[in-house]
Amino acid sequence: MRRYVIAGNWKMNMTPNSAKALIEEMKPLVAGKDNCDVVLCVPAIDIPAAIEATAGSNIKIGAENVHFKASGAYTGEISADMLVEAGVEYVVIGHSERRQYFAETDQTVNLRTLAALNAGLKAIVCVGETLEQRELGYTETLLKFQTKMALTNVTAEQMKNVIIAYEPVWAIGTGVTATADQADEGNGYVRAAVAEMFGDEIAEATVVQYGGSMNDKNAAELLSKPNVDGGLIGGASLVAAKFAAIVDAAQ
Ligand code: PEP
Repeated sequence: MRRYVIAGNWKMNMTPNSAKALIEEMKPLVAGKDNCDVVLCVPAIDIPAAIEATAGSNIKIGAENVHFKASGAYTGEISADMLVEAGVEYVVIGHSERRQYFAETDQTVNLRTLAALNAGLKAIVCVGETLEQRELGYTETLLKFQTKMALTNVTAEQMKNVIIAYEPVWAIGTGVTATADQADEGNGYVRAAVAEMFGDEIAEATVVQYGGSMNDKNAAELLSKPNVDGGLIGGASLVAAKFAAIVDAAQ
């Protein structure tokens, strides 16, 4: 009932020209891999080049953030309507790097999620615990709280366009991957929170990704778990063969 979604998060990497070159390399490697949705979330400046390079392919383009206001005096920000008009279909919201370095809070994650959904974008909402929170035993409480905060005032209908990425902060960009069981458990807490808000049917239909040092070597095991419906992939999405191997693992 759920489709895998394999999404790259390029972070602050790739110029427009290098974006084009990487996409040209990836396109034939992921072509025809129709058992999953393939998405690349790219820096805002790369969006036009990425949209052009992916035209006619099975790769969809996402942004890495969106502002919650429709327009106005918010220098440096990008609205949901701007992304839609540029051809963007997905947007990452509440990535731990934005929470850590750019004062993102659960409230602003919620506002961004609503803005994205109201504009018709698919929101990839990130949640995840720090190592300290895990060691204190707060993983379940925190994941449920972050999930519920992010989804406040989202409608049942809009949940079709929500993807939640469970990304343990201690596993992002560290080379330390959660075990497949830890990923399955974390994703299960997220799904349980969705069930508490929207009921079992919507929870069962919601795509919950795992993210945190997912790569060509560990993807198959992670994706074999019942609650893991795909991946949000940082480092490995910058290497065509590695990203394509993860897409293969989702077939
Ligand atoms: C990410 O950026 O969301 C991520 C999971 O990064 P990495 O795969 O490099 O850990």
